Amino acid sequence: MAATLSEEARSDRASELGANLARVRERVAAASASAGRDPSEVTIVVVTKTRPSSDVRILARLGVRDVGENRDQEAHTKAAECADLGLRWHFVGQVQTNKARSVATYADVVHSVDRERLVEALSEAAEARQRVVRCLVQVVLGTEPGVLGPRAGIAPRHAAGLADAIAAAPGLELAGVMGVAPLGAEPAPAFARLAEVADVVRSRHPGATIISAGMSGDLEAAIRAGATHVRVGTAVLGARPPLR
Ligand SMILES: *Cc1c(COP(=O)(O)O)cnc(C)c1O
Repeated sequence: MAATLSEEARSDRASELGANLARVRERVAAASASAGRDPSEVTIVVVTKTRPSSDVRILARLGVRDVGENRDQEAHTKAAECADLGLRWHFVGQVQTNKARSVATYADVVHSVDRERLVEALSEAAEARQRVVRCLVQVVLGTEPGVLGPRAGIAPRHAAGLADAIAAAPGLELAGVMGVAPLGAEPAPAFARLAEVADVVRSRHPGATIISAGMSGDLEAAIRAGATHVRVGTAVLGARPPLR
C-alpha cells in the first residue's frame, strides 16, 4: 500500500510523474501559443482518481496546486490525508444528491453541477459548514447519449437558468461551465458549443470565467476553444487500473 512504498519506488514514481507532467505542461504551452493565448490562463487540474495519496504528495512537490477526483468516498479520504498540502480539490464526477453534504466539506470547486436539486443540496451543506463552494454548470455536449448511459450534464439551452440558480444560492459561487467532449467524435464542435454557452453565462454573471474542458486526449482542441482549466489524468499518472 501507499504508506509502505520503499524510498526507491517513491523516487522512481516521482521521476515518472515529473517527466509526464513536464510533457503535459509543454503541450499546454504549445497549444496556448498556437491559439495566441498566454499559458498562464490555463490551469492544469491533475485528476488523481484511483491513485493513492502518495501520488498526490509527489504531485504537490512538483508544483501541482489543483487536483481532481470523481468519487466522493475516495476523494473525502484523500483530501483528509493530504490536508497539510494546501491543495485545491476539484470534484469532477457526477454528484449523487445524498453525497452533496460530504462533497461540500472538502471540494473547493464542483465541476459537475447539472440540476437544481443538487444546487439546493450543495448550498445547504456549504452554508452549514460556513464554506464557499465554487460551482461550474456541467453542460452536455453532443446529441448522443454516452455509451455508458446518458451523460451527466444539462442541455445547453437550460444552462443559463441553472447558472442563475447557483449565483443566487447562499454558500455557492458561480464560477463558470464544464463539458466533456462526446466519445469518438471530433471534439472541436463540442468545445465551440461550450464556449458559446460560457459567453451567455458570462454575459449574465461576469465573474463566471472558468471554462473547464479538455482531458489527456483533447486538451489542445479545448485550449483552442478557450478552456481555462484542463482536467488531465492518464497523461500525468499513466493508464488507470480498470474499475472494480
Ligand atoms: C477521469 C476524468 C478526466 C481525466 O481523464 P483522462 O483522459 O485520464 O485525462 C477528466 N474529466 C473527468 C470528468 C473525468 O472523470
